[in-house]
Amino acid sequence: MKKGTVFVLSGPAGSGKSTVRERLMSKGLNFHYSISDTTRKPRAGERDGVDYGFVTREKFEEGIKNGAYYEHAYYAGEYYGTPVSQLLPYIESGVNVILEIEVDGAMQVREKDRDAVLVMLLPPSYSELEARLRGRGTESEDKIQKRLSRARDEVLLYPKYDYFLLNESGRIDECVRQLEVIAEAQTYRTKNTPDFPEEFFKI
Ligand code: 5GP
Repeated sequence: MKKGTVFVLSGPAGSGKSTVRERLMSKGLNFHYSISDTTRKPRAGERDGVDYGFVTREKFEEGIKNGAYYEHAYYAGEYYGTPVSQLLPYIESGVNVILEIEVDGAMQVREKDRDAVLVMLLPPSYSELEARLRGRGTESEDKIQKRLSRARDEVLLYPKYDYFLLNESGRIDECVRQLEVIAEAQTYRTKNTPDFPEEFFKI
């Protein structure tokens, strides 16, 4: 059976990747969104098992030891990881999986799966990123500073990705459309085309 494709969506905090991903998913494409585990505390409105699996540090470290994570990273003082159970069963049954993860994790996915499609989403400028991050009003100044300095490092890794998209203010529909085009293009990759006409082999 044809396997699903792993799509990785990365981008600094404030790049708008959750919104873009949610819009993409709402179009009814054949995607499963991988729900990560994290040790960070839930933000207001976040639900366990929906936004993240919120776990203790002990539980996460045990998961790392037991190979329960396909990839994991330590980001701004907390663990984040993709449970194997959120990825492999879907891929095996032909469903595409979208991971919304940071760059260290994305590089681990690339090592394990050379067919994974890596997309980096960027805000139009650094000042716009800072404004978006502050506008959320969910983080302390210390956390904002950590995320901004991390953002600088992350953005510079864009050449390691297959695609990068600019999420320009007020043009989110365009960004979602570009991501849809990228997703559709994968269906024409030779590895994903089981409909090759058999008779060519018989001539
Ligand atoms: P936040 O705390 O803002 O929800 O997430 C912080 C960063 O961790 C974001 O860049 C987010 O995409 C990333 N992240 C979320 N889940 C995972 C995961 O499972 N693995 C990795 N490597 N990064 C993740």
